Amino acid sequence: MSINDKCPCNSGLKYKKCCKSYHDGRVAKNALILMCSRYSAYARKEYKYIIKTTHESTRDSDFQNVKEFSKQTTFQNLEIIEFIDGEKEAYVTFKASILSDGKDSSFIEKSRFLNEKNIWYYVDGDIQ
Ligand SMILES: [Zn+2]
Repeated sequence: MSINDKCPCNSGLKYKKCCKSYHDGRVAKNALILMCSRYSAYARKEYKYIIKTTHESTRDSDFQNVKEFSKQTTFQNLEIIEFIDGEKEAYVTFKASILSDGKDSSFIEKSRFLNEKNIWYYVDGDIQ
């Protein structure tokens, strides 16, 4: 994958003009941006970003699960269904179109995010 490829988050921009800056250390200013950049991170195998942006209460510091999921999965599309913003807590409902071992494993999830000291973190999600 090249940095000139389209960003996996479906923004229509090149990766280098989109989620790369977040993977390089920029802080996402809301949960929606964080959600999109995390999807891209799975697709681009930026494991450290996944771990870093997961809330410590649910963070699995072992990369193995993230790696395994990412390795067998083809990330085809991201569609945002709903974004509920808040001061300290926010929700993003999305559809991830993915193939797992070549089979359609697309799912819709409502993810929960918390803000701590002006940084958003993914906490957990409910599969819809
Ligand atoms: Zn992007």
